[in-house]
Amino acid sequence: MKRETYELLERYMICCMEDTAHDKEHIYRVLYHALEIAKTEHGVDYDVLIAACLLHDIGRKEQFKNPALCHAAVGGEKAYQFLLAHGFEPSYAKQVKQCIQTHRYRQNNPPQSLEAKILFDADKLDVAGAVGIARTLLYNGITGEPLYSLLPDGSVSTGETDTEPSFFHEYKYKLEHLYASFYTEKARAMANERQAIAAAFYNSLYGEVNASYQNGMDELERLLEGTDCVNII
Ligand code: FE
Repeated sequence: MKRETYELLERYMICCMEDTAHDKEHIYRVLYHALEIAKTEHGVDYDVLIAACLLHDIGRKEQFKNPALCHAAVGGEKAYQFLLAHGFEPSYAKQVKQCIQTHRYRQNNPPQSLEAKILFDADKLDVAGAVGIARTLLYNGITGEPLYSLLPDGSVSTGETDTEPSFFHEYKYKLEHLYASFYTEKARAMANERQAIAAAFYNSLYGEVNASYQNGMDELERLLEGTDCVNII
């Protein structure tokens, strides 16, 4: 890719990024992951891959304002229109668009081309390990979601059985299962190296807050019972 093309796409990307979990640094990490993965694959079209990485989250703002929208669909269309408006071939713009439209984990729309699979893997790597935990917590803060929810008996939910939005639910629903979803060997190996730190963080956090609730509720109950006795007396 020519430097001027890269800089054109980079400028457009920067003016589309807003939230801190999906800021321009996320885009650079995804691009660098993708380049690392691409070194181990044959026949990669770098013009498609670099453009798709740079523009893959430009639809985030629209999804944030209207959660009914899918940022992958919106972003793919925005990228397509941007590339056409700047004189790129429709076939090239379409390849970039298809990569972007299939990069989302939750969509029933798997990536088809090699570049789309690399983008998917590179983006998922940024939700793996310590950085994945940090970004998920950042995003929970932005959307106002709690760390965890409570079960009817007042104990802390692991996030596994409830459907309330929370960090624990996001970990159990998405982050924990991420490691089976990679398409390339390189990304799978990179993700596996990061898996233990994410699991250890979740387990420690759950252990700490659960112990706090269990011990605290028992102690409070004991004191309240004691107060009742004093009052009765
Ligand atoms: Fe992304």
